[in-house]
Amino acid sequence: MTTLLRHIQVRTLSSILRLEVNAVHSHSLSSAVVRQFRKTNLLSSGSLKFNKYYTWNRCQYSSCNVDSAVKTRLGVNNLCDRQLTKKHSNLLPSAVGSRLITGKDGFIRQFSSNMAPTGTGGEAIKAKIDSLINENTVIVFSKTFCPFCNKIKALFKDLGVEIKVVELDTMEGDEGAAWQEALIAKSGQRTVPNVFIRGQHIGGCDDTLKVHTQNKLLPMIKGEAEAPAHSYEYDFIVIGGGSGGLAASKAAAKLGKKVAVCDFVQPTPVGTSWGLGGTCVNVGCIPKKLMHQAALVGQSMSDAPSYGWNLPTLPSNDWAGLVENVQNYIKSLNWGYRVALKDATVTYLNEYARFVDKNTIETVNKKGKKRTITSDKFLIAVGGRPRYPNIPGATELAITSDDIFSLPYHPGKVLCIGASYIALECAGFLSGIGIESSVMVRSIFLRGFDQQIADMIGDHMEEHGVKFYRGWVPTEIIKLEEGTPPRLLVKAKETNGDETLEVEVNTVLIAIGRDPCTNTLNLESTGVNTSAKSGKVLTNESDQTTTPNIYAIGDVAEGRPELTPVAIHAGNLLAKRLFAGSTTLTDYNKIPTTVFTPLEYGCIGMSEEDAIKKYGEEDIEVYHTNFQALEAALPKRDENKAYCKLVCVKSEKERVVGFHYLGPNAGEVTQGFAVAIKLGATKNDIDSTIGIHPTTAENFTTLNITKSSGVSATKTGC
Ligand code: FAD
Ligand code: NAP
Repeated sequence: MTTLLRHIQVRTLSSILRLEVNAVHSHSLSSAVVRQFRKTNLLSSGSLKFNKYYTWNRCQYSSCNVDSAVKTRLGVNNLCDRQLTKKHSNLLPSAVGSRLITGKDGFIRQFSSNMAPTGTGGEAIKAKIDSLINENTVIVFSKTFCPFCNKIKALFKDLGVEIKVVELDTMEGDEGAAWQEALIAKSGQRTVPNVFIRGQHIGGCDDTLKVHTQNKLLPMIKGEAEAPAHSYEYDFIVIGGGSGGLAASKAAAKLGKKVAVCDFVQPTPVGTSWGLGGTCVNVGCIPKKLMHQAALVGQSMSDAPSYGWNLPTLPSNDWAGLVENVQNYIKSLNWGYRVALKDATVTYLNEYARFVDKNTIETVNKKGKKRTITSDKFLIAVGGRPRYPNIPGATELAITSDDIFSLPYHPGKVLCIGASYIALECAGFLSGIGIESSVMVRSIFLRGFDQQIADMIGDHMEEHGVKFYRGWVPTEIIKLEEGTPPRLLVKAKETNGDETLEVEVNTVLIAIGRDPCTNTLNLESTGVNTSAKSGKVLTNESDQTTTPNIYAIGDVAEGRPELTPVAIHAGNLLAKRLFAGSTTLTDYNKIPTTVFTPLEYGCIGMSEEDAIKKYGEEDIEVYHTNFQALEAALPKRDENKAYCKLVCVKSEKERVVGFHYLGPNAGEVTQGFAVAIKLGATKNDIDSTIGIHPTTAENFTTLNITKSSGVSATKTGC
């Protein structure tokens, strides 16, 4: 809006403002536009809602000081002084006894009223102001409609600082004007916000922000010695512009810090690369969910005849079209991230970074140009990249999740290697869009997840056409024939035996886990320690590494769930701890997650087997039910394939420690329950919640079959 308004023609502007005047703020308008405004008589035509409209430079006029009392008489109470025109002066009742000073542009620059702020009433107000300033660590004299006041109030809120706010414009009658007069007498400052800390006058919006950027605000509030100033180029450099890094950098910049983000994507072995935003947006959650949605649309089309739709022919999926649309969408997100960094005043460096020492990095851009940059603090948020098995042909011939979403040719017959989130989700959506897919499973499905449900997912996928090679590991990949796609032979051996197997496919998609991007960071130069086993950065509960000025969050940090919202949450909280005096830590417990397999699986907390391990079998009660989602009823599919399970601790009033849902819209269902489970919901709390009918989620509110009873959990009817 701001930029638009600067360039827009006045005629258009007038009509826009009649509709959108509420969105217009002070510096949105250039002086030229304001002059034009005057010409079109818009200001006095009554077409504007004055009470929400501010002129572009009201705060630049030191003489800008129209008494509220005068404005009240004029009926333009919240109108900025510079907007008052001669027309308004004609309305001035002589009783006010005001003097009018008009600028060359015809706008009234000043009313000086003869209303006395001092005297008995004035003295009382002065005394009241003094006592408020003395009683409150931070006090802000403000006006509710003033954007600068709101900015300062938001800053203190972000800093977690309790403040006393006195809103002058909400006071009775002339009271606010009298307070403002008294404040001018006290501080010499005519404008709001007028900020005092520990009795000391700080000034207005810019003055307060300046104190904050000099790292002096919080020490001043806390009555501590000032934090020593540093001489580095930046306050905070974030290495990695993914989910966690972007969140942390924007939050730090919002807190007034000088921040840069280095983000650079090393192409995959087959040459795939992408833009700003990290794994989630480019080669993870977003394209994965879109392709999963493509598969769900396919499912809906095959259900369509049972809902009365006559489909002319059996539809087929156009891989190239799908990829193009997904990639175009991603490009729009990449652009959005760049704009967001710019808006947040974060410097974006499309450069690969490595440490030189604990306060210096060396970066290199895609042309090979190097430079060194220094910073007081660093955040390592470099995430991870797919791991390749150490077998012949893997890196040369196979692809990974980094390649599949932009694969420029139809993948043909696909073999996914691995049996966790990525392998099962990819096999699921590929199969769902009509691509022949198989999965090579080394041991179990979805290690770490509830194994009853993991097996139900495997069974459901198998019934819907995905082939599983269970108990096999690949030993070699050989190219049989060039092409796009090529013809490949995968040799495998039994995980626990010597039998061998050969599978012929066109695409091998490896999903056997991800390695953190730590080995090119030259961490040795900094003293940051990594786990010998995983290579991930070791941190304490505050995300601080073994080198105090360097922090790590997201996928690269040891022991953190590899999930986007986890990285974002950690990034936001870290910035507030570092630059706003917050002490809030990220709570890594009871994090909800969803596996987007054809039948989606959402869970919170413990698997049944982990709960039994922790509390003992005799202290665990499991409530469950199978059911058929209503949408699957007419097509007569997936009968009793959906499933709800609550794992409860008997000795803790049946507190729910494990929530498991297998069925449509699992992410949506699970997100809502996550709040309840995080708050410590018991089985009784869930029972006393009235369901929404007909939904799949309502099954949780009526669970009455325990596993221990041995009664069948399958369901018929509503
Ligand atoms: P990333 O997002 O990986 O960002 C790190 C960035 O740092 C990258 O851009 C990288 O190129 C850059 N970088 C690395 N080294 C350097 C360096 N030295 N200098 C400069 N830049 C560097 N999570 C969910 O919550 N839901 C899902 O549905 C989901 N689906 C997924 C599907 C797939 C296929 C994959 C692979 C992951 C999925 N995830 C999902 C996980 C999620 O994507 C990650 O947890 C999340 O992206 C991690 O964010 P991050 O900030 O830690 O790192
Ligand atoms: P993962 O969860 O680490 O699982 C690795 C899988 O590969 C396991 O099934 C493992 O089998 C198998 N494996 C490991 N080494 C192997 C080898 N040499 N040969 C054959 N199989 C092997 O990895 P991922 O699926 O790649 O996912 C990575 C992370 O991304 C996950 O932890 C998750 O947090 C995140 N992610 C989230 C979502 C989501 O939220 N929906 C989706 C995708 C990814 P074993 O069980 O035998 O070890």
